[in-house]
Amino acid sequence: MLRVAVYPGSFDPLTFGHLDIITRSAGLFDQLVVGVLENSGKKVLFPCEERVEMLQEATAHLPNVVCESFKGLTVDFARKHKAVAVVRGLRAVSDFEFEFKLAAANRHLAPEIETIFMMTSHEYSFLSSSIVKEVADLGGPVRGWVPIGVARRLEERFRRSGEAGNNDE
Ligand code: ADP
Repeated sequence: MLRVAVYPGSFDPLTFGHLDIITRSAGLFDQLVVGVLENSGKKVLFPCEERVEMLQEATAHLPNVVCESFKGLTVDFARKHKAVAVVRGLRAVSDFEFEFKLAAANRHLAPEIETIFMMTSHEYSFLSSSIVKEVADLGGPVRGWVPIGVARRLEERFRRSGEAGNNDE
């Protein structure tokens, strides 16, 4: 039987921290389905289709990884794919409390699905989508933190909003 895992998140946008978790967990399962949450209630920079597209580009070299969007509960998404596990990444103690509650809630909803935590690689332990967006917004370099396709999109997006800002003056 194929062992499938899902890796859910906002990926707004994908960073090398996410990609590291994807690569390592793809080595542990027959198939990894990366799920981009469509309706998280969070204000997002990139529309869902673009977040999926960036993931697809960055994981094209990993044959057992598929990326798609989903709405609703992670456990329903996992069941749809007959997944045995939900993968989440942990950066620091500060991630732990939220992830602990989420895993407990998911276990309550779907006791047959395990949550697997992967510890960040230390070089990415500070890296988050929010930091990347903030630095890109201020014109800082993000090419060491995100795949090139993502960096280009960020540069494009913030250049445009900068130009719009200048026009207002
Ligand atoms: P969410 O909105 O669900 O937190 P994110 O896209 O921010 O979605 O993150 C998805 C998952 O990836 C989470 O489990 C998060 O802890 C993990 N993650 C994010 N950045 C890193 C990183 N630099 N190293 C390891 N895991 C990470």
